[in-house]
Amino acid sequence: MYKDIDKQMNEMKKKTKSLCPQCLKVIDAEIYESDGKILIKKKCEEHGEFEDTYWSDAELYHKFANWQYEGNAGITLTKTEKGCPFDCGLCPEHKSSTMLAIIDLTNRCNQHCPTCFANAAVAGYLYEPTMEQLEEMMKLLRSEVPPCPAVQFAGGEPTVRENFVDIVKMARKIGFSHVQVATNGIALAKSEQFCRDLVEAGLHTVYLQFDGMTDEPYKVLRGHTGVKHEIKGD
Ligand SMILES: [Zn+2]
Ligand SMILES: [Zn+2]
Repeated sequence: MYKDIDKQMNEMKKKTKSLCPQCLKVIDAEIYESDGKILIKKKCEEHGEFEDTYWSDAELYHKFANWQYEGNAGITLTKTEKGCPFDCGLCPEHKSSTMLAIIDLTNRCNQHCPTCFANAAVAGYLYEPTMEQLEEMMKLLRSEVPPCPAVQFAGGEPTVRENFVDIVKMARKIGFSHVQVATNGIALAKSEQFCRDLVEAGLHTVYLQFDGMTDEPYKVLRGHTGVKHEIKGD
């Protein structure tokens, strides 16, 4: 089915660049198939050889590789000084622009999951870009060629921003054709009006978390057994 690519891969083993996991230098790497998996092997002169799984399913990799397309170079949001990835953001070495940009609106949250790494209380500082900064970020994304089409607001919990509806409106006004929010859903579950306001503002997708079919994973990961109990308690 994927004969051409298989042939290519066996003949030449795909060459690429990677980072040494120890000194973070850019080093040569090789991608190849073995035992139904796609592996990546790289060698640092100083720290030796490293081998990792690149794709756990070779067939799926080939299926995706069939659609590989290199865009036009020339994304110049940052200059190349030390080279990608060290001063990337995006740098001219990139051949495709951003497809889905993730913008953290805050590191505050209305949950206190014991496993969270982004929580303001744990981090010890507050991260919350201003409306002006958000506008600047979104305009920058839209200035890529081709322009970034989709944005996902994340956090922390993005819906704790008082002006979240306005932020969604702003995203649509700036030209994103797809606007998502990654949320725990608590604010949405508590207010039908809030949901309606978001739809009206132009929100397309609510990206919820799903941890499991029983209470157990919620107890471990979230510190309680789910939003349903919070709603009942209101
Ligand atoms: Zn090294
Ligand atoms: Zn780059």
